Amino acid sequence: MSKFNARILLEPNKVPKEWVNILPDLPLPITPLINPMDGMPAPPELAFAIFPKECVMQEVSQERTIPIPKELREIYAQTYRPTPLHRAYGLEKDLGIEGDDIKIFYKNESVSTTGSHKPNTALAQAFYAKKEGLKELVTETGAGQWGSALSYGCNLFGLKCVVYMVRASYIQKPGRKILMKAYNGEVHASPSKHTMSGRIFYDKNPEHPGSLGIAISEAVEHSLTRDDARYSLGSVLNFVCLHQTIIGQETKMQLSKVGISEPDIIIGCMGGGSNFSGLALPFMRDKLEGKLPNTQFIGVEPRACPSVTKGEYRWDYGDTAKKAPILKMHTLGHSFIPHPIHAGGLRYHGIAPIISNLINNKLMTSSMHFQTEVIAAGLQFARTEGILPAPETCHAIKEAINQAVLANENNEKKVIVFNFSGHGYFDLLAYKEFMEGNLIDFELPSEEISEALKSSDMPIVDESKF
Ligand SMILES: *Cc1c(COP(=O)(O)O)cnc(C)c1O
Repeated sequence: MSKFNARILLEPNKVPKEWVNILPDLPLPITPLINPMDGMPAPPELAFAIFPKECVMQEVSQERTIPIPKELREIYAQTYRPTPLHRAYGLEKDLGIEGDDIKIFYKNESVSTTGSHKPNTALAQAFYAKKEGLKELVTETGAGQWGSALSYGCNLFGLKCVVYMVRASYIQKPGRKILMKAYNGEVHASPSKHTMSGRIFYDKNPEHPGSLGIAISEAVEHSLTRDDARYSLGSVLNFVCLHQTIIGQETKMQLSKVGISEPDIIIGCMGGGSNFSGLALPFMRDKLEGKLPNTQFIGVEPRACPSVTKGEYRWDYGDTAKKAPILKMHTLGHSFIPHPIHAGGLRYHGIAPIISNLINNKLMTSSMHFQTEVIAAGLQFARTEGILPAPETCHAIKEAINQAVLANENNEKKVIVFNFSGHGYFDLLAYKEFMEGNLIDFELPSEEISEALKSSDMPIVDESKF
């Protein structure tokens, strides 16, 4: 491969025409969303009151592909899609890898308008909300990536966007808050005094640092109080993973431009599981059809919040106040509040049911790394490839490096592809702490996990009733 091919680009008219829906191809049927009020599958009317209607339809669709509306494809093409696929020559060289036996590629979602993969679904959700005559989308955000993506999407379609931002991040990360306001987003520190779910915590302690689980409860509650508002979620659900599948479809076209049809290892970091799904699911469908028998899939988590690697597969609430739907997923327990690691986007107690399904069927594996080792990998990446990665993205980089080094030691031939989910220019504090030697590692002790899962507060769902 010539270095003139190191950035593999696609014409704007190559933005995929459809999303890949993995649900009908999964070896075991996907589990439904459960109503937290009665432990039974949520009836469509309830789901329609929470989410835009089209998103609910996509959540349970059994069509293998779902067309992407032309207006939406045009917006993707006008703004940042297709995104480039890069061969990481600089990183390979730094790892002592020579020749073409081991190739590392990364799909660069950091070139999106707000710097991560999240606008892929934010634009789709805002598009459908507008089309359905809604006026407002409400959501939560941790580090602020999702809040800024949805504020951007809503503003583009003339919708109001209300964001409940975990207070710890609201204080620590003013940059993302300003970006949300730049897109006309309305931002509240959570727990807030605006909702009942927030006041439970706020009244006791107005400085409460908050958690994603609490912020979700506030956003869901807020959206249910207004007829023309809906709740919007940036990960976990099937329809969000679906919207991200443009990533993997483009990657396939780009790999085939340089003669690769069978990558060996597909890697993505996992918070709720959407960017990993976006890259992996189009390849996974081929695997399920017997076309990619040797391709491995690895989702990467922080050791401080290893929902898949150490969590249990069971029914759990999506949020702390038990207002959001119950999902069957790998979970650390909805009451679990992870340590304040810098990869805020990976601090969720659960994972997408699609990921849990794939893990259970041994179609993919997970791995986990410490905060300091992933930030070190991120710096190595910045110094060799030029882009400073988001702390979340550093998890995928660390795994890709480990896999490449291992293959090199064993004289193997490997094509390794990872998703570069976002840049880290709003996360400089993580790098500063690392450089000053102040970044701490957290590992979640197994006893703490079993304690959280033993709690009598876990939902009771009787699958034999539905
Ligand atoms: C939000 C975020 C993640 C984690 O979310 P997923 O749904 O698992 O993709 C990862 N990387 C970046 C840059 C993010 O903003």
